[in-house]
Amino acid sequence: MSIAPSDWRDALAAIDSATEIVLACHQGPDGDALGSMLALALALRKQGRATTASWGSDPFVVPRHYAFLPALGLLSPPGEVAPAPELMITFDCGSIERLGLLEPNARAAKQLVVIDHHISNDSFGTINLIDPHVAASAVVTYKLIGEMGIALDRDIATCLYTGILTDTGSFKYRNTTPEIHQIAADLISYDIAHDDIARIVYDTHPVGFLKLLAVALERAEVIEDAGAGMIWTFITQSDLRRAGVEMEDTEALIDVIRTADVAEVACVLKELPEGVYKVSMRSKGAADVGAICESFGGGGHAFAAGFTAEGDDPRATVDAIAAKLR
Ligand code: 5GP
Ligand code: MN
Repeated sequence: MSIAPSDWRDALAAIDSATEIVLACHQGPDGDALGSMLALALALRKQGRATTASWGSDPFVVPRHYAFLPALGLLSPPGEVAPAPELMITFDCGSIERLGLLEPNARAAKQLVVIDHHISNDSFGTINLIDPHVAASAVVTYKLIGEMGIALDRDIATCLYTGILTDTGSFKYRNTTPEIHQIAADLISYDIAHDDIARIVYDTHPVGFLKLLAVALERAEVIEDAGAGMIWTFITQSDLRRAGVEMEDTEALIDVIRTADVAEVACVLKELPEGVYKVSMRSKGAADVGAICESFGGGGHAFAAGFTAEGDDPRATVDAIAAKLR
């Protein structure tokens, strides 16, 4: 299932006629969510059109890894978003709940265009631009900007490239196709600083993160009989305090954990301030962690997914996951 020509036509017509456009991406935005949304905000600005761009988190803070993105000045906190927008466009939200504080605004919007690539997306928009075959929402956004007849520039290309880079894991995941390399080549032709982008996103950490990594690696355990093997670890709020780092600084932890040769699946649990655990899962291909996380009320992709666990005991959550893998 890719996007039907009628959906493209409907989306273009809705965007063309709207006088008030709200852009929103998922809570705790990643490079794809933020990059896609800012790219369209910049493109609409080139047409001389104002937008409100936001996501539904309070406090409203741009993640440090993405603070280099251009056009952060186009962002507004969720409290400034119209309660019932004429047109709202969502980015990278697999379900309407991922909008967090902005979910009511989306439900009240007269038109809701959903730009996404999650296979689990239930088409919650009035117009759905959802293509599960592409690696990133930034690919759909790239095509939309092309369909709108707006020329790319360095800033738009920087935003889109960041989305593609992060959702392909630096062009390493299976979703990396000839087409995505062709799009990346087009984006790089706008003279973007792709080397700086890669370094800031992947290869820059506070020293405290390295200390926290040591704690988490020391704690890691392998469960050999969970499917083709699972490695897991966890970090607590007190670990974060001791290392002097924020939760957003810990994204790279799972990328180290999942390199274990004996494990098909990797799982990292992070204690939230409320005491419950946010679970991140990765698979090398044999297991569908998206389906597993969905069964726990979360979602994602077959190879990268997550959910929020109800209990405050990481080991009990991992036991339940291991049982599903078996
Ligand atoms: P991460 O482990 O990096 O936080 O998330 C990996 C993938 O799973 C992302 O594509 C993200 O959209 C998805 N994901 C993570 N947590 C949740 C969740 O609680 N609900 C849903 N629906 N998707 C999630
Ligand atoms: Mn994405």
